[in-house]
Amino acid sequence: MSNIAENLKIVEENIENACKRVGRSRESVEMIIVTKTATAEEICEVVKLGYSNFGENRIPHLKQVSQEVAKFILETNAEVRKPTLPSHISWQMIGHLQRNKVKQILPLVSSIHSLDTLRLAEEINTAAGKLQMKPKVYLQVNCSGEPQKYGVPVGAATYLAEQICTMPHLQLIGMMTMAPLTEDQDRIRSSFRRAKEIFDDIRDLEFHESKFKYLSMGMSNDYEIAIEEGATHLRIGSAIFRN
Ligand SMILES: *Cc1c(COP(=O)(O)O)cnc(C)c1O
Repeated sequence: MSNIAENLKIVEENIENACKRVGRSRESVEMIIVTKTATAEEICEVVKLGYSNFGENRIPHLKQVSQEVAKFILETNAEVRKPTLPSHISWQMIGHLQRNKVKQILPLVSSIHSLDTLRLAEEINTAAGKLQMKPKVYLQVNCSGEPQKYGVPVGAATYLAEQICTMPHLQLIGMMTMAPLTEDQDRIRSSFRRAKEIFDDIRDLEFHESKFKYLSMGMSNDYEIAIEEGATHLRIGSAIFRN
């Protein structure tokens, strides 16, 4: 087995065990495979194993690898009588998004996890309107209490969520957060717990027509804690693509 296949097997086992520990079904958790350090060839290997949900934060890399992966799928499926690979790959923008990159990114991704300011929301809403799109977005909240560069502060999260929901070309489907940069498991857990509380608070408000239901948290170093604390979407990169 290749390293990637082996790494995936380990991650899948860990996800399943974490789900069992807290009585969740495996289907309640989705893994987004983060490709920022991967080559197109490595991503194709993952596609061959049946995975089709990927996350990126670098636009040039996203453009390059998404084209190569699409080509690989077309060519492979054309060679065999029954298609063997997923026909559609879904790409998520998970990292910081500059306002002047919004127009480029919209046609390439099926969701944006990093919406954290009113100005960015307005920019996406306007660009989406022109393209006649209605992108799915997650509100990124800084739950770690440390001065991270990105993410709306906890105290302003509900207000921003409310603002986003008044914009006709955005669908607010959930919330995203990143754990503090630390090895301290208790601090990671308490920041995820905080995220879940804010997520529940926003979910219980009326303004979003019940579309708000996903909690994107957990990366290679903390995805098991994230599952235990209620994540619905994990964003995992280095645990899969490391040698
Ligand atoms: C890189 C990245 C990840 C994945 O991180 P790993 O530690 O490699 O699993 C998840 N989310 C965001 C926003 C990232 O930039």
